[in-house]
Amino acid sequence: MKPAGVVRKVDQLGRIVLPKSLRKRYQMNEGDPVEILVQGDHIILERYRPRCVFCSSMESVGEFKERYVCATCVKEMHGL
Ligand SMILES: [Zn+2]
Repeated sequence: MKPAGVVRKVDQLGRIVLPKSLRKRYQMNEGDPVEILVQGDHIILERYRPRCVFCSSMESVGEFKERYVCATCVKEMHGL
């Protein structure tokens, strides 16, 4: 992890503006979901990608009855 070279102040509502250059670089557009992760004393922002409800994988995840399930778990459920 390295500094992005940007310091911003948190406003009274807890908001921080991400610089346009970072939004462009990481392809974050208005309305895109962003997940907030924590690691020790660090707060990490990631573009949201759904995780499998069973194994937390982000690979080959599909939606079934408003839940996300990966292809590997689907195969396991079918005994394959
Ligand atoms: Zn899974």
